[in-house]
Amino acid sequence: MESESRKLLKRLRDTLAESSAGQARLDRIVKLIAASMETEVCSIYLFRDAETLELCATEGLKPESVHQTRLRLGEGLVGRTAKHRTAINTANAPAEKGFRYMPETGEERYSSFCGVPVQRLGEVLGVLVVQSKAAREFTHDEVYALEVVAMVLAEMTELGAFVGEGAALSARHQQSVMFRGTVGQEGTAEGRVYLHEPRVVVTNPVSDDPEREIQRLRDAIENLRTSLDEMLDKADSVNTEQVQVLEAYRMFANSRSWMKRMEADIETGLSAEAAVEKEQSLARTRMGQATDAYLRDRMHDLDDLANRLLRILTGQGKDTGAEMPDNPVLVARNIGPGELLEYGKRLRGIVLEEGSVGSHAAIVARAWAIPLIIHAEGITTEALNGDTILLDGDQGIAHLRPDETVQNAFRDKIAMQARALERYASIRDLPAEDLDGTRVTLTMNAGLMADLPSLVSSGAEGVGLFRTELQFLVRNQMPKRAELSRLYSRVMDAAGDRRVAFRTLDIGSDKVLPYMKANNEPNPAMGWRAIRVGLDKPGVLRMQLQALLRAANGRPLTVMFPFIAQHDEFRAARSEMDKAIEREQILGHTLPSQIHVGAMLETPGLAFAPDAFFEEVDFISVGGNDLKQFFFAADRENELVRRRYDTLNLSFLNYLQMVVDRCNAAGTPLSFCGEDAGRPIEAICFAALGFRALSMRPASVGPVKHLIRRICLSELREVIETARRSGDQSARGRVMDWLSTQS
Ligand code: PEP
Ligand code: MG
Repeated sequence: MESESRKLLKRLRDTLAESSAGQARLDRIVKLIAASMETEVCSIYLFRDAETLELCATEGLKPESVHQTRLRLGEGLVGRTAKHRTAINTANAPAEKGFRYMPETGEERYSSFCGVPVQRLGEVLGVLVVQSKAAREFTHDEVYALEVVAMVLAEMTELGAFVGEGAALSARHQQSVMFRGTVGQEGTAEGRVYLHEPRVVVTNPVSDDPEREIQRLRDAIENLRTSLDEMLDKADSVNTEQVQVLEAYRMFANSRSWMKRMEADIETGLSAEAAVEKEQSLARTRMGQATDAYLRDRMHDLDDLANRLLRILTGQGKDTGAEMPDNPVLVARNIGPGELLEYGKRLRGIVLEEGSVGSHAAIVARAWAIPLIIHAEGITTEALNGDTILLDGDQGIAHLRPDETVQNAFRDKIAMQARALERYASIRDLPAEDLDGTRVTLTMNAGLMADLPSLVSSGAEGVGLFRTELQFLVRNQMPKRAELSRLYSRVMDAAGDRRVAFRTLDIGSDKVLPYMKANNEPNPAMGWRAIRVGLDKPGVLRMQLQALLRAANGRPLTVMFPFIAQHDEFRAARSEMDKAIEREQILGHTLPSQIHVGAMLETPGLAFAPDAFFEEVDFISVGGNDLKQFFFAADRENELVRRRYDTLNLSFLNYLQMVVDRCNAAGTPLSFCGEDAGRPIEAICFAALGFRALSMRPASVGPVKHLIRRICLSELREVIETARRSGDQSARGRVMDWLSTQS
């Protein structure tokens, strides 16, 4: 039987290579299958739309029923095969549950029925059926051969012409689907899907040289194993999720049964690629049926692995040449900050299946004010390049291929937001001053040259945090000093009189430079990162400080060091700055007119440092993202715990109050530059505690200013005080009640 199916596939391939096309080709194929399988009937049914299957070619049934006979999904044995995505094999079709008699086809004479879904990567395009008069059940091998043929059929571009209105899409991929995920960044976007990792296109489904194909498959698997081993070597630590996933991948890559199934497929006449894809299709079908989350994850792993294998076999990289559409919305399983930066600001929105709100990719999306939805499960399987997509970042919802009603409602929402933006634009040049005249300086966070135009459009009074590592992340090699100096100088040019606080390199944690050896750390967020790296291996820090001093070239310069945990780290970093100044002086370079050197408070213990620390620093900037994760011991990237503790939790506010008091006592300027500073409710509470400078993503400046201008910070302070006295866990309830009474 195996050689029979190989013969069949070979003939099929010859037919595919012939010049006939369209209907003539389908007609030849059904004839050929019927003859090879010795059945009276062979038919191909394809989806016309999401719900309807149409008889598109037949050998044996009445020719006039072609393109006339239609069935609903789930109707009759054909409809049931499509609905349940599994083969139906019966010796007595009329007695079978769901049988539907179709007199126009003359099929009453056929007792045996075998239908298999024609599917590509888990998506059903139609059904391939053979029928015979003799009452017999088809053998396992026959069903298998039919499945293989169906898979080759699915690869035929031909089918596209028959599905729907000439579109080369399956019915499923025409339906509108809604994905409910988690909000990563608010905002709305309308655009077209651009897949970060588009599907691999298999162009050679059939081969008559199984030995060669098996060897190709083995080589590819070997290649895959080696790259998995390398990835495991480089992976972060023994316990991270990443390692677990890689281990699961390795297990699959070493799975003999997986290999054996694929080799058997090749023996029947499939190419190595088609064999991998067949397994992948099966995994996807099972994935859709699995109710157990663990099992689904493993299926996902297998699917991912098959994709990698297909890329190796076809030599297609991530870039398959698909053109980026206008208004691109990036759809990906996950993405690192470096990869995201490569796409740049042209993206209209981002939807991820995984990801986390605290990650730096999310921070980049927020900095760019690009709506981001994370945890949109299944979207990478469902979306196709170029699909229309609407993102409602406020609700965490993505509408894929939306219908007209959804589109209209969505456009109304966009119009409303535009009105809000106009409101913010009208106060852009006014100060962030409360009703009592207390002023708060609102600055923005940035990291790229491309962010600078937002200074003017947002009305920010400066850059309170310039994340210099983003420049390092977008490159694939270490930038040179002169290059950095030019860049910093351009940043200062663009900022004009406004101050820019350059934060020295904060690498480590989730910010891994591709050209620096990764460390195997069990807990990188609390590991060798930021200033710790800067002090232990001062080469890059020195180069960066020099670049900054040269960029300032007589202008004022503000620099801050990240992740300072104790006084002597600041001292050591400051002394690097002093040495750099001295060197510049000796070299005869113009020094900055003023130099402010600050520390970021991101580790809770620093707030208890001796007075001398507070007196010595020129300013302190609270890095609330890290500070909060260490204050509550809740990983900022872990969705399970990230939102567990409210920023307005009074323990946290009490702590921040202490920081404010200590800074006031020492006369040290204080600002807050974590993401929370950009959330209007949180921002006014920080201001009420005494923070007089807040740094946020540019899009938040308007909403925060708008709110500050409507309230009395001293009253809000009283509200927080009452919450504290009453023993509330969080001030949020009372703050919200109070806000609702404000006009
Ligand atoms: C912070 O931790 O709040 C911060 C501003 O730094 P980053 O988010 O880059 O770690
Ligand atoms: Mg930080």
